[in-house]
Amino acid sequence: ERSQSSGVATAVTGTGYESVSVATRDVHLAFGRNQVLRGIDLEVGRGETACVIGPSGSGKSTLLRTINRLLEPDQGDILLDGVSVLDQDPDALRQRIGMVFQQFNLFPHMTVLRNVTLALRQLKRLSRDEATELALHHLDVVGLRHKADARPGRLSGGQQQRVAIARALAMSPRVMLFDEATSALDPELVKGVLSLMADLAAQGMTMVVVTHEMGFARQVADQVVFMDRGRVVEAGPPAELFEAPRSGRLQQFLSQVL
Ligand code: ADP
Ligand code: MG
Repeated sequence: ERSQSSGVATAVTGTGYESVSVATRDVHLAFGRNQVLRGIDLEVGRGETACVIGPSGSGKSTLLRTINRLLEPDQGDILLDGVSVLDQDPDALRQRIGMVFQQFNLFPHMTVLRNVTLALRQLKRLSRDEATELALHHLDVVGLRHKADARPGRLSGGQQQRVAIARALAMSPRVMLFDEATSALDPELVKGVLSLMADLAAQGMTMVVVTHEMGFARQVADQVVFMDRGRVVEAGPPAELFEAPRSGRLQQFLSQVL
């Protein structure tokens, strides 16, 4: 029985994502005099999912944007598989790091298919046929191949967010960053997006997920990171953080959101 279950694990790894580890080392960032990140150390192993939680304004979005170099840290380093990204070309880097935002940012005048093929054509320089094949595959992965010819406006918010995820996945990212990907969705649409994210995690994608969905964090995260005022106040396995929060600030935060 044991060899059978390890066989299954191998099969999943074999079809899974090629992911890299992500680390930040003592990352500081200020907007003017506003010190928003005050020495962030993060360590997310290959294929692991870290859920970042914390009050509004604590620096969660800024941290994600710093990881894919939409923002430059004033101090500190960001590493993918142990290699600093700070001297890498930002455009090349962003092809290795997929990002999904609260607002899906799909182009309304283009079909779903074209939304997904656009970056494949322009950044990866794929032929029309190659891009279409890849895009259809990833629309299939998110369950929306049948919507390929629709405009985004004809889709529900949850479907639009799944298209945005397909668009990111089609670029073969090594890491996925999610910034409150379900916060703009009607409650009944949240589940479909979260279960897609849980599937990605199970298939070995490295993910850093900023979320208010504590159920998701509890079930899917390898590590929960609680940020407050630009610092990581506590980080650890979900059972530890949720069942036995050590700091008063996390206790207070959890009492407000749970
Ligand atoms: P969170 O995502 O945890 O809610 P953010 O990272 O968005 O927090 O914001 C942290 C702080 O940084 C806030 O005080 C916010 O006003 C400030 N901030 C975020 N982005 C900018 C920006 N582009 N320019 C100036 N201040 C910003
Ligand atoms: Mg935010």
